[in-house]
Amino acid sequence: MYDIDKIRSDFPILSREVNGKPLTYLDNGASAQKPQVVIDAITRGYAEEYSNVHRGLHYLSNLSTERYEAVRGIVAKFLNAGSEDEIIFNSGTTEGINLVSYAWAAPRMQAGDEIILSTMEHHANIVPWHFLRERQGVVLKWIDPELDGSLDPQKVLDAITDRTKLIAVTQCSNVLGTIVDVKAICTGARAKGVPVMVDGSQGAVHMPVDVQDIGCDFYAITGHKLYGPSGSGAIYIRAERQAEMQPFFGGGDMINEVTKDTVTYAKPPLKFEAGTPGIVQTIGLGAALEYMMDLGMENVAAHEASLAAYAAERFAGLNWVNVQGHAPGKAAIFSLTMEGAAHAHDISTILDKKGIAVRAGHHCAKPLMEHLGVAATARASFGLYNTTEEVDRLVDGLELCHKLLA
Ligand code: PLP
Repeated sequence: MYDIDKIRSDFPILSREVNGKPLTYLDNGASAQKPQVVIDAITRGYAEEYSNVHRGLHYLSNLSTERYEAVRGIVAKFLNAGSEDEIIFNSGTTEGINLVSYAWAAPRMQAGDEIILSTMEHHANIVPWHFLRERQGVVLKWIDPELDGSLDPQKVLDAITDRTKLIAVTQCSNVLGTIVDVKAICTGARAKGVPVMVDGSQGAVHMPVDVQDIGCDFYAITGHKLYGPSGSGAIYIRAERQAEMQPFFGGGDMINEVTKDTVTYAKPPLKFEAGTPGIVQTIGLGAALEYMMDLGMENVAAHEASLAAYAAERFAGLNWVNVQGHAPGKAAIFSLTMEGAAHAHDISTILDKKGIAVRAGHHCAKPLMEHLGVAATARASFGLYNTTEEVDRLVDGLELCHKLLA
């Protein structure tokens, strides 16, 4: 059973007030709150178990290395990777995608080679590919969403030519909540020999993920959206792709031997993890993923699906609110605009006075905003601890915005 009161009590911040009102935290798409188990893991990591990893022979170094390395297995289990060696730690999705761009894509792409992207991508899954366009003449090909905000996998596959070297696509739009059928894309792309990079920043938060079933080559996650610490993250990279990669960062930990004239590298995954990592952040990420797996990602998905259905129904009753994107099965992420002069920033400011946190702006997805023809939206993004009462509070807040701004 999904005990929402118990779950909410696991997150200390949810009992605080903001502007004299109970906090209604609907900005999970930007970053999620942390359960006590994560806070405890971080505190224990620093207060009792801290040292550098992979370095020393003393007790604390061994202990922190053990705690840190155990998280690789937790991430592998969370994503159902075939081997924990396919999990590379980093500071989050942005670093993960840049690793793929610099270490895998850049050395193997020539002018005129193509990367296929959806118009729904976050800038983190756009700008690293623009680098290759600017520096190497790589061509970016864009696939627009349908009118309802869904992405047709066949349109992605139809765009493949003999110059296509990569498809980079999100599993879940951080603006529209659209869930992309990445498995269909990967199956079709694999048949044509094209690797697929999946941005799992939002997808892994809202549904069970099985990278082997999806069949992707790269799958990036970011800890702070997964109820873990900021500055933590990981990327799954299929072993065959790792074998094709050059190291990106050089430094300590990623070497086998260094002399004045030569360098040899450690085996993956360490080969791609230079320098002292986010030790305690990663340990906190492990605690967060265990927390989610204890709840059961199927249960989280079911809870959020019922919230999404309830929210969609309530918004449908407000004929002056436009919800961007109605793809079937979308995640509980709602980008809202209002008829009249109401700006997203004004909506967000008024909601804040009621203790309701939403994000206003372009959500780091400018090509999508241009496609939708809107400059900014107010985005309410729900997480595993949100309730239908909070949807009601949001609707009351929107009614106030309408009264004040229409
Ligand atoms: N991709 C998507 C879909 C996102 O929503 C985000 C964050 O908002 C990112 C990538 C970037 O994640 P981070 O800033 O944690 O690297």
